[in-house]
Amino acid sequence: LPDTDPYLLVSEAGVFRALAALAAEPAAVTTARFRLAAGHPPLAAEIGWRKAAREATPPIRRDDGAADGFLLDLSPAGDAVDPADIRQTLERSVRRATEGGRRHALGGYREARLPGVLPADEERPFSAERRTVSLGVEVFAPSGTPVRAVLAGEVVAAGPDPVSGRGLRVELRRPAGGGALRSIYRGLAREGAPEPGAAVAAGQGLGSVADSGGNGGWPPHLQFQIALEPETDEGRPTDEDPLTYGDRLRAAAAPSDLEPFAALCPDPSPFLAGLADLESLAAPPDAFGQEPRLVDERRRRLSPTLSVAYDPAPIHIVRGRGALLYDDAGRDYLDLVNNVCQVGHAHPAVAAAISGQAARLNTNTRYLYGQLTEYAEALAATLPVPLEVVFLTNSGSEANDLALRIARSRVGNRRTIVFEGGYHGNLTSLVEVSPYKLDGPGGGADPDWLVRLPMPDLYRGRFRDAAALTEDAVRRIETAGPATLICEAILSCGGQVVPPPGYLPAIYAAVRRAGGCVIADEVQTGFGRVGPSFWAFREVGRDTGSGASGASRAAEEAAPDLVTFGKPAGNGHPLGGVVASRDAARAFETGMEYFNTFGGNPVSCAAGLAVLRVIREEGLAERAAAVGGRLMAGLGELAGRYPMLGQVRGRGLFSGAELVRDPETREPASAEAKRLVSRLRELRILNSVDGPDANVLKLKPPLVFSDPDTDRYLEVLDGALRERG
Ligand code: PMP
Repeated sequence: LPDTDPYLLVSEAGVFRALAALAAEPAAVTTARFRLAAGHPPLAAEIGWRKAAREATPPIRRDDGAADGFLLDLSPAGDAVDPADIRQTLERSVRRATEGGRRHALGGYREARLPGVLPADEERPFSAERRTVSLGVEVFAPSGTPVRAVLAGEVVAAGPDPVSGRGLRVELRRPAGGGALRSIYRGLAREGAPEPGAAVAAGQGLGSVADSGGNGGWPPHLQFQIALEPETDEGRPTDEDPLTYGDRLRAAAAPSDLEPFAALCPDPSPFLAGLADLESLAAPPDAFGQEPRLVDERRRRLSPTLSVAYDPAPIHIVRGRGALLYDDAGRDYLDLVNNVCQVGHAHPAVAAAISGQAARLNTNTRYLYGQLTEYAEALAATLPVPLEVVFLTNSGSEANDLALRIARSRVGNRRTIVFEGGYHGNLTSLVEVSPYKLDGPGGGADPDWLVRLPMPDLYRGRFRDAAALTEDAVRRIETAGPATLICEAILSCGGQVVPPPGYLPAIYAAVRRAGGCVIADEVQTGFGRVGPSFWAFREVGRDTGSGASGASRAAEEAAPDLVTFGKPAGNGHPLGGVVASRDAARAFETGMEYFNTFGGNPVSCAAGLAVLRVIREEGLAERAAAVGGRLMAGLGELAGRYPMLGQVRGRGLFSGAELVRDPETREPASAEAKRLVSRLRELRILNSVDGPDANVLKLKPPLVFSDPDTDRYLEVLDGALRERG
């Protein structure tokens, strides 16, 4: 709009973007969109394609006439594709499936694929969904296999596939009642293709299947698709450019944008009757869109105390790899939340260690086996010397429960000191030492032996001064007398809070002076997440305050009596434990046995050993420090532009951004944080919030999170913050 003040159009920016996108697509798609939105059938008039299908001959024929083609599961949930090496796994699957016989493996219509699997699915901006849903059928066949026209028609296109660059694309057009019917053949060899404009008879040769070079490195296959081309009332094509109509429909659609495209590209299976039993080409049972059924089943059989993320539109995740999760429609989500799959989702080395050990032996700690002591040794090697006695459990909660038992035996009473906002697990013994739960819905009163310390949060906590904070904590500890302190070195549920330098050594020392015992809960923060110091108590406890009070000037490294771990230890396999100093462990030797059926079983130890090995071999702790530093610097840059990002804090790949309504009052922006997380999910970023006011964006991705992942996150977050105006 010339001569218009751009300011007046600012809020219409989205409208102009949408108009530009609509103008670029075939008019038939836009019409189908509007008709669907208005509750009408997508096409104004039926196009008689089903009758044509009954007369069709298959594009690839078997000499013996056997119609024994079968559907390969190429969906994100299937075994046929591995996001790390899509082509090789696909090739193996096709080879395995067709070995011996000459059966044709087929790829299903409307089946979702992982990003990058379908030729038409080229890279798009991070925030845009990719075209992961197939609008045709793949017929895997040896290169050189003749391909024939399924129906008569005029050749409207015959040339290199403009979108995929994979082989040749031939498109035939044939009038049908109410419009035209197009049959599209992709992945052909260059030789033997018909000339544009030629008339082709049904069954006439169109050339042959290209080798894998012409098929983008995929195993040789024909991609076959049917497209309907509506007519105007005057009987003219609705599209202004019929030559490119098939191109612009593409061979795949984005899952959220599927319906208008699927209406114009119906299921081509009826044209393949001579190639396979049609029943076998029905959509696989776990085709995408199962969320309502799964939600319903969950509601019927599970307790509502089991919450689901992104309610009321939860995600059906079917696969993970590295820092990415994939839903059933092939959408990739960048995972900023999972601090369990430490070395990356579905790490092949960990999977191999688990399955290899499970295939040989799984038993319990009453027998001798090398994996147990090897793991205990490897673990102890990551910790300072006094921590040397290892107990293995199946979860972080079990580890903390055991650590409390050991510590209380040592101290001689139940008194327990915790941080406000602290969370230590789901067992009865831990809910009662977790203010995060006690203060939340369904919580309860503190036991009379519980002592709380204010959160060491100088940004929005009760104390804004390190010396005053430390003095207050030390005084409370001294007043409590001999007690067990259980705390994280960087608070997780409390809101990714890093205590000020010197604070941790000061409180550890105060507890010891009072005759108490210190448990470092490293369930979230351990295993290299905060950097090469490997454990957060070492990372934070090394900080020595200068100019703070006498107590916080403690220069020695903070060393707990017990360290507990869980989540990341098995990369998702249940494994946790306690490492105790010899002194602390001795107090627990009362004569009563500690037996844990599953704790320390050989499969868990194999998983644990593989995780430690991968962290070392892939340099993940060093990488966490480098990538985490870059991520926090990027967030800091955003904070300079968006005042809502009040504070960015953390260490390595354990960080947070506190959202506030006003940088002066620091009023928590809780509702805004919730909306931001839900918007980020739409943009395929999994983030979540924590802290007592649920206003801290927490970042704790798998440690394989990379620089490109960081760029993707920052770019999308920037966009989401900008949208808010
Ligand atoms: N400690 C901390 C700090 C935790 O965050 C958690 C789990 N969120 C636990 C202990 C308990 O671990 P789990 O759920 O594996 O029992």
